[in-house]
This record gives sequence, C-alpha cells and structure tokens, in this order.
Amino acid sequence: MIAADETEDAMPDAMPDAMKDTGGITGWHAHVYFDAGTKPAARALCEAAVARFGIAMGRMHDDPVGPHPMGSCQLSVPPEVFGEIIPWLVLNRGDLTVFVHAESGDHLPDHTRHVLWLGQSLALDLSIF
Ligand code: ZN
Repeated sequence: MIAADETEDAMPDAMPDAMKDTGGITGWHAHVYFDAGTKPAARALCEAAVARFGIAMGRMHDDPVGPHPMGSCQLSVPPEVFGEIIPWLVLNRGDLTVFVHAESGDHLPDHTRHVLWLGQSLALDLSIF
C-alpha cells in the first residue's frame, strides 16, 4: 500500500493542471529512418504498410529533411489505424528506427513529448520550430 504523501511525491513536476484529451490528435506520423544501406528495407516496410493499412506514404528522402537527422520516409497514420499499425511496425521494422509522433497542431511538443521511438532514439533538429 502506498501512502498518500508518497503518491504525491511520485507525481512529476511537469504534470499539467488539466489532462489533455486525445481528441486533439488529428493523426500520427511514422517516420521510417534509413541510410543508403537500409533504404531498400525502409522502402519495403513503407510499401507493405501502405498495402496493408491503406495509408499514405511520402517520398523517400535520402537526406535529412525538416527535423529529421537522416534519410526518412513518412507514413501518415489516421487515429483509427494507430492501434493496428504500431504493433505491426514493432514486429516488422527489423533494425530500422521508426519515429512516431502525434499531430496535434503544436509542432514542438508533437516532435518532443508526443512521441514514440521504435528502436534507437535520435536527436532531432528542433531549430525549425
Ligand atoms: Zn512528422
């Protein structure tokens, strides 16, 4: 049993006064990172995700674009697909890193706090926000 004062101590200082509702999330991006050696695997993963989930796939960017530190391809994930595609990416990403972030309209927190990393997490270029 946890005493009330211990529970209070366990609350992070950054806890907002009001919890955010997930209804503010209009969608998710899953950015599949790759370099020259892993580009074919990244393309295959993205194309398989498109075929399986009927989602949109962006261009294969060989170089860093936006905040992304290396080559990447963006999958646009509607909220209703999130619960299916994340476990699928976990099982099928191999050694690829996938950066998943919410789209809530608030770009900096969407790329720093509202995120999941599948695999190794990398430092983003946040200077554009
Ligand atoms: Zn994105």
